[in-house]
Amino acid sequence: MTFSLALNDDQIQLRDWVHEFAEKVIRPAAPEWDEREETPWPILQEAAKIGLYGYETMVTLRSDETGQSFPILAEELFWGDGGIGLAILGTGLAAAGIAAAGTLEQVIEWVPQCYGDENNVKVGAFCSSEPEAGSDVANMRTTAKYDEASDEWVISGQKAWVTNGGIADVLVVQAVVDADLGSRGQAAFIMKADTPGIAAPQKLRKHGLRASNTADIFFDDVRVPGTALLGGKDKLDEKLARAREGQKAGGQAAMATFERTRPTVGAMAIGVARAAYEYALEYAKGRVVFGRPIIENQAISFMLADIATEIDAARLLVRRAAWMGATGERFAAAEGSMSKLKAGRVAVWSTERAIQILGGVGYTREYPVERMHRDAKIFDIFEGTEQIQQLVIARSISGVRLV
Ligand SMILES: Cc1cc2nc3c(=O)[nH]c(=O)nc-3n(C[C@H](O)[C@H](O)[C@H](O)COP(=O)(O)OP(=O)(O)OC[C@H]3O[C@@H](n4cnc5c(N)ncnc54)[C@H](O)[C@@H]3O)c2cc1C
Repeated sequence: MTFSLALNDDQIQLRDWVHEFAEKVIRPAAPEWDEREETPWPILQEAAKIGLYGYETMVTLRSDETGQSFPILAEELFWGDGGIGLAILGTGLAAAGIAAAGTLEQVIEWVPQCYGDENNVKVGAFCSSEPEAGSDVANMRTTAKYDEASDEWVISGQKAWVTNGGIADVLVVQAVVDADLGSRGQAAFIMKADTPGIAAPQKLRKHGLRASNTADIFFDDVRVPGTALLGGKDKLDEKLARAREGQKAGGQAAMATFERTRPTVGAMAIGVARAAYEYALEYAKGRVVFGRPIIENQAISFMLADIATEIDAARLLVRRAAWMGATGERFAAAEGSMSKLKAGRVAVWSTERAIQILGGVGYTREYPVERMHRDAKIFDIFEGTEQIQQLVIARSISGVRLV
């Protein structure tokens, strides 16, 4: 299939549908939920009612063979608002974790439970990072020990910065099953968040994305059935045996998964950047200083020209990487990481420039660009920091095992 930026009818319909929801429902509510620092459950419910939040929609979008539907959805939602956008899309992390490691039976059983239904909306959470293992995933300390007598896994440890932590119904938890094998000795488990021994006592107070709940989660000898192991025991035993023999396939598969998921995060960043750009453009046309609209100063209009160009460039990288992921093209130069690196930087820079264009009001909470700037910073941090993207790209282009 040839790469094309032209949207088909379904994609145009999707874009317009999500845009309308973002404009009419998300935007007007964004300042309130940012101030409240709470999950916007009523908005999740509304999204569920129209089918925008739910596993069926996610499955349909993921099956787009061009790969463009998910970035389109993400950009429009985050154009509406970053925090509410993540409240809506955060469950997708858990669903993707189940889809990546689980059997078909596990996917069918658990993914719908992550979302609930329109009358009883639920969220899911993906728990990988730990206080000592954010970028350095191989340093994970949470353990899962198999109790053969009861056919149960016993999980102990602490997970950090979990999106939807403390409010999720279903948790996907990464844990170490063989400490000698580094990241290849890890496995994923699925469980209900009310399983005895799980606690998320306090949500974290954040710089941005404040409508999205983030919390640390503690696991104290949490017993889950053998069936909680995603993929099943036979598959895990085979994987561990391969790792002990020094075969490499596992690490490469994990890397390919990241390359496929990062463009969606890039699309979220573009949504925030575009929102700030559009706001600043309109403001610059209307704000009169020294007797003329500030856009008539090249210092302002050129800044806007640069922002527009950067956003377009980032979107091209995102769409290309999404297309590569969907069509099975090899990420020879870590194009997925490239797209997320570029889009994250563009979001941080564009939103900061937007504040500059608005001047004093831009710095106040009366205008939305300061919130957009706070929201944008996350794109340099989660799903692999700026430096980790650089590391992955540098390794890919050089073939050198850089550390
Ligand atoms: C709002 C929010 C939501 C999140 N949601 C989730 C979630 O749902 N699930 C989840 O599992 N995690 C989640 N995270 C965690 C996130 O993925 C980590 O914070 C991120 O991976 C960075 O890890 P760290 O914070 O430990 O930073 P560190 O790894 O301590 O990095 C600190 C700094 O050092 C740099 N650095 C580290 N190693 C190198 C190197 N080798 N070379 C150069 N520089 C380096 C980093 O780039 C960074 O600038 C979330 C975080 C936030 C803030």
